[in-house]
Amino acid sequence: MKVFYRQEQAARTQSFSPSAFKPALVLDDWRRHPEFNIEVIGFEPVSPDQLALAHNPEFVRGVLSGELRNGFGNTDPGVAASLPYTTGSLVAAAEHALLHREAVCSPTSGFHHASYANVEGFCTFNGLMVTAVAMHQQGLAQRIGIIDCDVHWGNGTDQIIRKLGIGWIEHHTMGSHFHGRSDVGNGEFERWLNQAIDRCMDCDLVIYQAGADPHVDDPLGGVLTTQQMSARDRLVFERLGQRPLVWNLAGGYQVVDGDDLSDAQKIEPVLALHRETARLHCEILG
Ligand SMILES: [Zn+2]
Repeated sequence: MKVFYRQEQAARTQSFSPSAFKPALVLDDWRRHPEFNIEVIGFEPVSPDQLALAHNPEFVRGVLSGELRNGFGNTDPGVAASLPYTTGSLVAAAEHALLHREAVCSPTSGFHHASYANVEGFCTFNGLMVTAVAMHQQGLAQRIGIIDCDVHWGNGTDQIIRKLGIGWIEHHTMGSHFHGRSDVGNGEFERWLNQAIDRCMDCDLVIYQAGADPHVDDPLGGVLTTQQMSARDRLVFERLGQRPLVWNLAGGYQVVDGDDLSDAQKIEPVLALHRETARLHCEILG
């Protein structure tokens, strides 16, 4: 499994969300599983001009210089420094997926609430949209699908699509359909996901947010069981895995209480969900 990771994409910051530091913990975890056969691939960070493909240039400059708050609500220079690497990972992964027609992983989060000129909900820059516009501009992809299975509505993605008048993106976000256990009864979720995949079949690239926060035990989720989460990833990999596909981590907020626990032990329920996605990638796609 090819993983586009550099340690510069992980930042430590005070927040309810562990997402800034999560990539490092996820990589440590996967490296302990030799059967995942991880191949870590480096990449270049994106430039402010690349971020401005999907954002107001003044907003980009203000966040990177620390004059404006990031998605965690602070001006921590460590977070600002990590942001070009976070989006850089997804851009590089998408480029590789398109050039080699394969499925790869970008261990990133914190994208889909960010809109054209605003941060929101732990999201600073919308790497999904920066990546989509960059691939389209480079002529690598005419149509791009975004299947967003973070449990929350990808409102920032929708806003940027409208703002830029884009008609070549298929955007499907589970957060605008499913809000609790009762919404997913009778195979409703599987039906929605199959339909989203159907509509992405003519796309040159699909970006799949394999969020951990839809899980029933997630404090911000409460929608899918562990088994339903596995079935979700399996369906995406089985139906789209032979085409250019990039998957990432997105949200996940379960925490185990305990003062003597390591960072990894504290977020073990989230690591377990991402581990299962990685395991399925390897089982289905090699
Ligand atoms: Zn979320």
